[in-house]
Amino acid sequence: MNSELNSISQPGILLSRARINIKIWLKYLLIPIGILLRQNNDDLRVLFYHRVNSHLFHELGMVSREITVHEKTFERQLTYLAKHGYRSVTLVEFERMLSGEQKQDSKAILITFDDGYADNFEVAAPLLAKYGFTATVFLVTEMIGGCNNVWPMSDQPQFGRLMDEEALKKWIAEGHEIGSHTCSHPDLTTLDKDKLIEQMRASRLTLEKIFGVSCKSIAYPGGAMNDRVAIAAKESGYTLGFTTRSGTNGKNVSNLKLRRTEVSASDRDFIFAMKLKGVFDWLGFRESKIYKKAIFQINTLFDRIIKPAQGPSR
Ligand SMILES: [Zn+2]
Repeated sequence: MNSELNSISQPGILLSRARINIKIWLKYLLIPIGILLRQNNDDLRVLFYHRVNSHLFHELGMVSREITVHEKTFERQLTYLAKHGYRSVTLVEFERMLSGEQKQDSKAILITFDDGYADNFEVAAPLLAKYGFTATVFLVTEMIGGCNNVWPMSDQPQFGRLMDEEALKKWIAEGHEIGSHTCSHPDLTTLDKDKLIEQMRASRLTLEKIFGVSCKSIAYPGGAMNDRVAIAAKESGYTLGFTTRSGTNGKNVSNLKLRRTEVSASDRDFIFAMKLKGVFDWLGFRESKIYKKAIFQINTLFDRIIKPAQGPSR
């Protein structure tokens, strides 16, 4: 109990709480600007999550604290979607709508998860089923059944588990889908042509072989992509490539540079509703290399400050 209380007051925990609260208030402050800049259209929206669980805050690493949506919050979000007439579509339906083969539907939504955390199956899937939604998870093939502790600012092994083959087979049997998130989650923009193709093609073939389903969609790790990556994705057999750039997908967006709406720990219910209305779509500039580099440097700095204070338990 004492160690639990001590851990709650650790600088890392306080800093994470501060960061999330700052993000919440920034989002509230940006709403008026977003309402002015909002483009009212029926283009297709893709939601993207990482984690859904009810782990205690101090049980998670710095990154997971910010990318986790609490189980109860997730259920409220699904309730909102159901109440407002949204329906989840499959990747095939989504692609048909993009190409115009199927009529676009303003209430069609694609729900996606990146990285393949075990909580997607254990916590999110039962809730998705309860509200009649399906989702797609993008998997890192070399990490199936593993743990996120190979990544910086990760979790302790028991809290960072990724789905194993058995869970994924059940995930697919329940009507959900899978896509690639590469073999090892590299920054694709830094790879030479051969390595780029290898990361994308090998992961597709692995998923198709293990799970016996077609894999034609990829989510670029960290959203890092450029024209070269998009061309390589096409050459590797993908017809849909998902970025982390915010916005919707209409005729002006390439199938290999699809936009998504992130949902994370700082998305309060009202912010989630505003996101669905396109109030945050204009923030796509955050995907620029300069912005991402600055954020990475800030996060690394925070990690350096916090680690010595947390001691050897990390
Ligand atoms: Zn990822």
